Amino acid sequence: MAHHVNFCVLFFATAVHLVQTVPRIVDLSYKQNRDSVTWPSNPSYNFTQLFRGYSETYKLWLENNHFAMPEHMGTHIDAPVHTVKGMWRTDQIPMENLYGAGVIINVKSKAATNPDYRVTVDDLLMWEEKYGEMPRRAVAIMNSGWSSKYPNKTLVFGSPEPTDISTLHFPSWHEDAVTWLINKRQINAVGVDTPSTDYGMSSTYPCHTLLGKNSVVGIENVANLDNVPESGSTIYIPVLNIADGSGGPARVFATYDDEPNKTNAAAMVTCFTFYLYILAAVLVCYVM
Ligand SMILES: [Zn+2]
Repeated sequence: MAHHVNFCVLFFATAVHLVQTVPRIVDLSYKQNRDSVTWPSNPSYNFTQLFRGYSETYKLWLENNHFAMPEHMGTHIDAPVHTVKGMWRTDQIPMENLYGAGVIINVKSKAATNPDYRVTVDDLLMWEEKYGEMPRRAVAIMNSGWSSKYPNKTLVFGSPEPTDISTLHFPSWHEDAVTWLINKRQINAVGVDTPSTDYGMSSTYPCHTLLGKNSVVGIENVANLDNVPESGSTIYIPVLNIADGSGGPARVFATYDDEPNKTNAAAMVTCFTFYLYILAAVLVCYVM
């Protein structure tokens, strides 16, 4: 009897573990370090160890560092005030505006042949044809496949001279698509896996202006978009709460329900098998 119960508990625990360990959370941020990509002319990342070792004062192991970096470095947000005077600074953005349904616009094949590609209204309509109308207050992010180039600055900026901003080539959003997202779908945030919500060749930055004017958060250098479903996730944008900030680094992440039907089926099989074992154990006990 005891043997059966033990086996049963072990099986049940293993099955529950299998059901629960299906990955449903994806880190959409790059590590911040000396290689972090930032806009040309920004200062570099500075990480200094203040203390690392056994502390005689506190009688324990102690690590303590100082870091300094531009707000617009690596995976980060643009607060609306970044390019439009008087709009929200980083600490003024309501939390409600820092998450939403994930809408991943896959333009990888187009960007592969055209580094100056801009996401069009047609791309958005194609997404809706596949997945239905976008939820309101969503987080729409372009997946251009650019993450494979990060953090190589020459490749990310598409220029042998990335410090010369007149030579940049990387994809981003077309202003018509951004206008559509704002007017037709009340978008919360618009992101890219490239360094800017305006494409590399832009010299007027219309998307930045549109986003700022309409209190929409911009997200730049988003990572790991291939690991998020194009529809059905929730994306969170937990930016550092910088007072007076114009943006800031963010550990952007997505959660999603991975194959809910399969998960439910697995849970049902688990429960059914559990009861079978209980039944078998009781029968064995009764017979003996
Ligand atoms: Zn920025």
